[in-house]
Amino acid sequence: MVLYGVIPHRFGNRARRHDWKHADDFRYATVVPTVNKLLNKINISGSLVAEEPMSRHTTFEVGGPAELYAVPHNTDDICELLRLAEEEGLSWFVIGGGANILVSDRGIRGLVIDMRAFNRFEHHDDELILGAGMPVSDAVAAAAERGLGGLEFLYSMPGSVGGAVWMNARCYGHSVEEVLTEVRYVDEYRRLRTYTAERHDFAYKRSPFQDRKTVMYETRFRVHPADPSELAARMREYKEDRASKGHFAAPSAGSVFKNNRAFGAPTGQLLDSIGLRGYQIGCAKVSDLHANIVINCGGAAAAEIRAVIEHMQQQAQDRLGLTLEREVLYAGEW
Ligand SMILES: Cc1cc2nc3c(=O)[nH]c(=O)nc-3n(C[C@H](O)[C@H](O)[C@H](O)COP(=O)(O)OP(=O)(O)OC[C@H]3O[C@@H](n4cnc5c(N)ncnc54)[C@H](O)[C@@H]3O)c2cc1C
Repeated sequence: MVLYGVIPHRFGNRARRHDWKHADDFRYATVVPTVNKLLNKINISGSLVAEEPMSRHTTFEVGGPAELYAVPHNTDDICELLRLAEEEGLSWFVIGGGANILVSDRGIRGLVIDMRAFNRFEHHDDELILGAGMPVSDAVAAAAERGLGGLEFLYSMPGSVGGAVWMNARCYGHSVEEVLTEVRYVDEYRRLRTYTAERHDFAYKRSPFQDRKTVMYETRFRVHPADPSELAARMREYKEDRASKGHFAAPSAGSVFKNNRAFGAPTGQLLDSIGLRGYQIGCAKVSDLHANIVINCGGAAAAEIRAVIEHMQQQAQDRLGLTLEREVLYAGEW
């Protein structure tokens, strides 16, 4: 097991104006002796570090430290971590690609479980087996190279396979529920379970995993034979469309609010109609290219991003009479 190992930065690490060490959150430093004590109580082949800045693990590139940050390598590690959490009374939170969360500047108390090491890729006939921690876009690209179609709508969407299942991610008119067949997970009692997908359990941007505490580690999807060059062309189109909407231009978590058919127009259009494009607080700003995306212009605090989000929600309520439902999740100590 690695203690205080270096975790590679997944999304780069821009200079941040709000360094947690200068804020009032130095209380987390008391955790270091605690971690040393915990080391004697746990045996995992993955890594466990203390005080890991969450800004390294979120696409917003903001967020204070996680008290404890673990990268399990197998299901035994997951069970060990959950046992430790239970015995020590620690709360725990699973992170995939960090592409749909806003972590507070004060960070996350307890244990964060990073699933990146679960990156299995296998296929048998029309079944694709994917580790839950694999970047979903890489999985789609690898499937397409092998002439396996069905998942290309997810190409170039940030985040992990597990996160896409948890969120029932939806892009270009398709949702994960349409292709998902099975999920293997560890439940909160440390039991290994298999879930067989039933479409009625899912809804728009809703999955049954949102109602349970689980750690998903493996998933299965239905795929079909397809021409790799046709798949590649479609994937290129999706990527170009995202680029035109500024998805890769600045750190963000994609759409802040869900769409709602009853509102008669996409949320971005509605927010645009009340002049919110470009609205800015500190270094957090509503994208100039898409009014439902908030970007970190460089050095934003999570609190600034949240303030922009709340302003958008309030404006939609006051000026349009619409209650927007947030898609981006708040994590950590607010
Ligand atoms: C530029 C950009 C564009 C985007 N476009 C889209 C889009 O078109 N459509 C769309 O739906 N979303 C979009 N998103 C949002 C995001 O990509 C998706 O919601 C994605 O599915 C999140 O996956 P993640 O692994 O990053 O999840 P995270 O943000 O890491 O976590 C989200 C939730 O899932 C849970 N979770 C993650 N992995 C596991 C696991 N293995 N076991 C248990 N729980 C888990 C977490 O605990 C958390 O509650 C976009 C984001 C960005 C930055």
